[in-house]
Amino acid sequence: MSRLDIFINRMVSQRACIDHAAALTQTMTGPVFELGLGNGRTFHHIRETMPDRDIFVFERAVASNPDSTPEDHQLILGDVHETLPAALTRFGANAALIHADLGGHNLAKNDAFAREISPLVEPLLAVGGIMVSSDRMYFDNLIEIPLPPEAVEGRCFMYRRE
Ligand code: SAM
Repeated sequence: MSRLDIFINRMVSQRACIDHAAALTQTMTGPVFELGLGNGRTFHHIRETMPDRDIFVFERAVASNPDSTPEDHQLILGDVHETLPAALTRFGANAALIHADLGGHNLAKNDAFAREISPLVEPLLAVGGIMVSSDRMYFDNLIEIPLPPEAVEGRCFMYRRE
């Protein structure tokens, strides 16, 4: 499989999983958290498809397309090792949807990072809430759920708090 195939599969899977998570949480009132703004493509998709939700974006350094840059009040700037615990104090266990795309090209680093932040993400999710991640996460109490048919196995992971 070429790098282009892998990239396309990742993009298709992100969109399918975010849309599926949006449908599964449509009656929930808690905020949506976007972890990793990057270019802002997935943030833009979340904003377009969930215009009535409160969206907060966690990012250490904003470098997004101007069309895809969050408002100041939506931005939670800093390293997620610090901002996720602070978010628990601010929001409690109320997030309806958390999407994480924090990794780079080094798969071993991504996996180590996912292990580090899993215990910081887990307590933020409300009962019935959905977590979508580009990397496998390591949760104690969230259950992994099947991907929608359009997504490619291994390119995204979905979890729910029962
Ligand atoms: N989903 C985005 C998009 O569609 O454009 C791409 C996100 S990009 C792959 C990953 C982002 O995560 C980068 O902007 C990086 O700065 C951010 N990031 C990585 N580690 C972080 C950390 N420890 N704290 C906060 N942000 C981090």
